[in-house]
Amino acid sequence: MDEQLKMLVQLQEIDGRIRTLLAQKKRLPEALAGLEKKRAANEANLETAKESLLTAQKNKRDRDKDLEAGVQKVEKLKARTSEIKNNKEYQALLKEIETFEQENKAVEDDILVLMDKIDTATAGITTAEQRAREEEVAILAEQKQGEAEVAKIDQELKGVEQARQEMIARIQPAVFTQYHKLIVSKGGIAIAEARGESCSGCYMSIPPQVYVNVKKNESIITCPNCGRILHFKEAIAPKVP
Ligand SMILES: [Zn+2]
Repeated sequence: MDEQLKMLVQLQEIDGRIRTLLAQKKRLPEALAGLEKKRAANEANLETAKESLLTAQKNKRDRDKDLEAGVQKVEKLKARTSEIKNNKEYQALLKEIETFEQENKAVEDDILVLMDKIDTATAGITTAEQRAREEEVAILAEQKQGEAEVAKIDQELKGVEQARQEMIARIQPAVFTQYHKLIVSKGGIAIAEARGESCSGCYMSIPPQVYVNVKKNESIITCPNCGRILHFKEAIAPKVP
């Protein structure tokens, strides 16, 4: 096979590998951003759970004070009963005491509801903390894996880019220019395999006389239809033991 043609085939393989590696590398930061979002959502969940606990605790403190004041009020009113001689006033006072006692009962009911809310919110915090902790372990592992992948890709890129430079140095400048123009204009495929008398780049048939020469792999021949450089792969003969 013509040395230049052989190197162009290899160069195209290298360029294809570089494109694949760069595409893989580009996808990784998106995956890592997804992990950060997950982490932020867990933190927000925990914050919400903590806020509902604080609200329930504050409401309970307020209602505790209301109850304390209500109980004192009833005690004061009860203390006055002994001073009253008039029956009408006495009945009115009893009525007033009853009203305040009913109010106190309602406040006590409120407090019970708030205590339930505090229990629920406390359990909610425990659940949110546990979930955040568990997911953090998974997030850290995924981040570490992502970083390792980037490092692996970078290392391979370094190697193939070096190989590419060495290859280009050995290709005639005019041949490389022709190759490069085709890579840019033909969607990254400059070298196409001639297979079954047609071009694998554009799928058009190759004139028989051109195909005969292409099969020799002795010179740089372009497809009459798409202009890609053609090469022929010899069928690998099965090994006979
Ligand atoms: Zn073609």
